[in-house]
Amino acid sequence: MESCNGKFYHAPLYARSREDSRIWKVTTDGSYTVKSAYRICIDLLHASVPTQGSVPWQLLWNLKVPHRVQSFLWRLAHQCLPTRTNLINRGIPCDDTCVSCNLLAETHMHTCFVCSKTATCWNRIGIDNIVCELLHEANDFTVMLFDLLGRLSTQQQTLTTMTLWSLWKSRNTKIWESTNSSPTFIVNRAKMLSMNGLVCKESKLRNTT
Ligand SMILES: [Zn+2]
Repeated sequence: MESCNGKFYHAPLYARSREDSRIWKVTTDGSYTVKSAYRICIDLLHASVPTQGSVPWQLLWNLKVPHRVQSFLWRLAHQCLPTRTNLINRGIPCDDTCVSCNLLAETHMHTCFVCSKTATCWNRIGIDNIVCELLHEANDFTVMLFDLLGRLSTQQQTLTTMTLWSLWKSRNTKIWESTNSSPTFIVNRAKMLSMNGLVCKESKLRNTT
């Protein structure tokens, strides 16, 4: 016991000591950054989304669409848009029927692939056959969304993503402003924004090379 105490008392002390401080363990220098916290949130969300097999998330970030549309698609892929079904699941009392057709429950799957207005949009941009084919075997919304994007050309991916965004924007406009957008308007807006987005991206690339 005495020798143990002796060792303790004779243990060398550090010449310099620091004040205790909080350390953010996910960065190499221990300091907090919003980027690192954002990364953790994404990883947690990826882990929480029930999907079959692996989802090629990189495809989403490689899409040639504006950042706000990428952000929209990210929320869509995580099924966290405030659809009426999601609102009810979160304890907000409301009617669960689709804002567009007023027939079936407004889920992500219904809004993006099943609703009659949406189906007309997919017909207008020529991907309705692929959507129908995928719908027959779809068990999971996120997997189907990425399966669809994976089967399209780069140009079709852009237009499809912009159409999804345009559909959701029209759905919100109907709720808040009581205006009804036709499939033609929804698709034309998506086409116009797709072209503008590509022109902007190309001009940015030219300016940086
Ligand atoms: Zn509907």
